[in-house]
Amino acid sequence: MAENIRLEIVTPEKAVVSEDVQIVMAPGTLGEFGVLVGHTPFLSTLKVGTVRYTDADGNDRVIFVSSGFAEALPDKVTILAESAERRRDIDLERAQSALERAQERLAMERKEEIDYIRARTALEKAMYRLKVAGAKRG
Ligand code: ATP
Repeated sequence: MAENIRLEIVTPEKAVVSEDVQIVMAPGTLGEFGVLVGHTPFLSTLKVGTVRYTDADGNDRVIFVSSGFAEALPDKVTILAESAERRRDIDLERAQSALERAQERLAMERKEEIDYIRARTALEKAMYRLKVAGAKRG
């Protein structure tokens, strides 16, 4: 069996994941990327989305992340995210309310560009949280 790679997912508030995994997929701003043990070192910014990984026992996991940075080393991937949540930690009602608020803002006729970007980001975050919360495992 292939060697594992260490995955750390950290937010300003807490460590969300710290475990040995088989493969990590992350939402880079230039596109999703995958990391296996022995990968060439690189840095990437992350967009709102999901980090997916297969744990050491072969279980597929999904974590919500709302932008940040990833550092890949041959034996370790570190993800620094503004916020990150496992499936079980996602508050569905809160995400549903955030989705509705963002949809209402986006439906308003006149809006500044800055408000539009904020509302789009809030919408994306809520949609990914709902998607992760509905996933089978996490
Ligand atoms: P909201 O509009 O509901 O506050 P948000 O997208 O503005 O959501 P963030 O700024 O991404 O929230 O996160 C602030 C904190 O709240 C973080 O600790 C994040 O993990 C947590 N959080 C936000 N939404 C949820 C949720 N639906 N379930 C669990 N934790 C959440």
